[in-house]
Amino acid sequence: MSGTLYLVPTPIGNLGDISRRMADTLEQADFIAAEDTRVTVKLLNHLGLKKPMVPYHRHNTGTGGQAILDRLQAGESCALVTDAGTPAISDPGEELVAQCAAVGIPVCAVPGPCALVTALSVSGQPTGRFTFEGFLAMNKKNRKAHLESLRGEERTMIFYEAPHKLAATLQDLAGTFGEDRPLTLCRELTKLHEEVSRTTLGQAVAWYGENAPKGEFVLVVRGAEPLPEGEASVEDGLALVDRLRGEGLSLRDAVKRAAKELGLSRNELYDAAVKL
Ligand code: SAM
Repeated sequence: MSGTLYLVPTPIGNLGDISRRMADTLEQADFIAAEDTRVTVKLLNHLGLKKPMVPYHRHNTGTGGQAILDRLQAGESCALVTDAGTPAISDPGEELVAQCAAVGIPVCAVPGPCALVTALSVSGQPTGRFTFEGFLAMNKKNRKAHLESLRGEERTMIFYEAPHKLAATLQDLAGTFGEDRPLTLCRELTKLHEEVSRTTLGQAVAWYGENAPKGEFVLVVRGAEPLPEGEASVEDGLALVDRLRGEGLSLRDAVKRAAKELGLSRNELYDAAVKL
């Protein structure tokens, strides 16, 4: 019988966030797969644990993943951890979970720290519907396409960003959503210098144009205001068509749905989309 893959979150800055179940799962697993064994050994030392570890990071998901699968299939249990937060969320693990699911290996997720949920809950932005966008691509074309696909997004949007790329990302977000769009910037969550700034994209651009960002950031951006019925323009329609195309709809289907949602003429919108 196969063993189980346990997904074990680790603190995003505050060791007090280690739960009893996280520690027990680490202790009871046959081995630990870690994004960086040097980081995880510190956590294990803090917990007074000594466990065999194997590396599992974004550069060895192929061979490393297969070695873990083999051991799971042989009946061993594995606890997967990353440097901080929940495995598989903008971190290694997604592929391993999919591989386990494909061959029927049980996967058990232990709930715990996750920067996006922590940021969203404290943000003061609407939480009923939200979309997690992870990191924007470095590649200009992919980055632009990603942002364009979000132009009319009405749900709260959550982005991760590294400090050295924060200023450029804020500029791109302001360029897409406008300077007045509300933003909650969550910095160093759960740490000594935790800071939650409820501001706007424009103000954040101005501030970080002059002040170097320090620490880790989650950006929680307010979604677009819903358009009042009958007031949509062809440009709004084109933006929605673009978004729907990004979700995989054909041009014809995207136009049909956008025209219906925005109360626009289907023919007029189709002609405008074809011209583009
Ligand atoms: N799997 C992790 C999780 O569950 O949140 C995310 C890993 S991702 C590689 C790292 C990003 O998460 C950082 O660049 C930052 O955007 C965000 N992050 C992690 N810890 C944070 C913290 N303490 N405060 C703010 N953002 C944090």
